[in-house]
Amino acid sequence: MKTYNLALIPGDGIGVDVTSAAMEVLSAAARGRFAVETTAFPWSCAYYLEHGVMMPADGIETLRGFDAIFLGAVGWPATVPDSVSLHGLLLPIRQAFDQYANIRPHRLLAGVEGPLKAQGFDILCIRENTEGEYSGAGGRVHRGSDNEVAVETSVFTRKGVERILRFGFEQARARRKHLTSVTKSNAQKYSMVFWDEVTRTLAAEYPDVTVSHMHIDAMAAKMVMAPQDLDVVVASNLFGDILTDLGAAIQGGLGFAASANINPDRSAPSMFEPVHGSAPDIAGKNVANPIAAIWSVAQMLDHLGEAETSAAVLAAIEAATAQGIGIRPGLNTTAEIKAAVVAALEA
Ligand code: ATP
Ligand code: MG
Repeated sequence: MKTYNLALIPGDGIGVDVTSAAMEVLSAAARGRFAVETTAFPWSCAYYLEHGVMMPADGIETLRGFDAIFLGAVGWPATVPDSVSLHGLLLPIRQAFDQYANIRPHRLLAGVEGPLKAQGFDILCIRENTEGEYSGAGGRVHRGSDNEVAVETSVFTRKGVERILRFGFEQARARRKHLTSVTKSNAQKYSMVFWDEVTRTLAAEYPDVTVSHMHIDAMAAKMVMAPQDLDVVVASNLFGDILTDLGAAIQGGLGFAASANINPDRSAPSMFEPVHGSAPDIAGKNVANPIAAIWSVAQMLDHLGEAETSAAVLAAIEAATAQGIGIRPGLNTTAEIKAAVVAALEA
C-alpha cells in the first residue's frame, strides 16, 4: 500500500481543534486505500514564547522531505505580534517551497445558507502568492514633513505572471474550461497591461479554454450578481486576497473556506490550510467549524494524486451539510460535524 508522509502543524487556537478533526477524517478516508504517516510539529506561538522562534533553524529543511504539509492556523495576537507569527513560520514556508499558487475553492455547499443564497456558486480562485503588489518594494522620503511621500511598487515578472496563468489554464481545463483573468489594466498601464499580454499569449496555447478579462471592480460586482458565469478566476496577490474574502463570505463564512498553497512544479512540498485564523474567542471550546480544514484535506488528497478519495471527502462534507449539520455558526460542535462527515464517508 502506498504511504504518504505528512507534516502536521496544528499551530494555535482553533488550528488545533480543526486539525484534529480533519486528521480523523483523513484516517477514515485513507482506510484500505493508502497509508498516511503523520509527524506533528508543535510550532506555534506557545512554542515561540518558550524558544524565541516560531520554528527551529532547521525547520524548513525538516519539512522539505515530506509529501505535504498540513497547517491549522498560527497566531495569538494577545501575546505574540502577528508580524512575528507570519514572518516566522507561514511566509518562510511559502517562500522556501515556492508555493506560488494559492488556490481557494468557493462553493455554496448543499444546505448552507450564504448571505446571497447564490445559485450555482462554484468558482476556483487562484491567487498569485509570491510577487505583485505584496513584493515589499518601495519606501518613504521626507519622513514626517509636509512633503512626505510613500511609494509602494508592484513587481510583476514574466516568470511569475506566466506560471500563475498557466496553472490557471490547466485548472480550467480540468473544470468547466472557462478562465477569468482579473486585472485593472484600464488604470494600471504597466503591470496589468503586461498581465493581459501574457494572458493573450497563453490563451493561444489553450484553444479549448474560453478566456474572459475582467477589471477587479466589475469582478467584485459579478461575484455577487452573476457568479454562475465564473469558473476559474486568476488574480494577482492583492486582487486575489480581496476576492477570496468575498468568496468566503458568499460561501457561508470562514468556517467553509479552504485553501492550498501549491508548488505546481512539485520541486518541494505544498501546504494545505483552512483560510481562517486561530480565532482566540472560540479556541478550545469545541465549536469551531472543521469543514474548511476537512475541505483542505480534500485539496491535499487531490494534489497527491488521490482524486477519487478527495472526491469522496468532498461528497461526505456535502452529505453532512445537506442534512443541516454545521450549516450555521453555533448549530453543531466540532466533534458533531466531524462525526457526521466520517459517518458519511463510511456509509
Ligand atoms: P487572522 O489574522 O489569522 O486572519 P483573524 O483575527 O482575522 O485571524 P479568524 O481567526 O480568521 O480571525 O476569524 C475571525 C472570527 O471568525 C473568529 O474570531 C471566529 O469568531 C470566526 N471563525 C473563524 N473561523 C471559524 C471556524 N472555523 N468556525 C467558526 N467560527 C470561525
Ligand atoms: Mg483575518
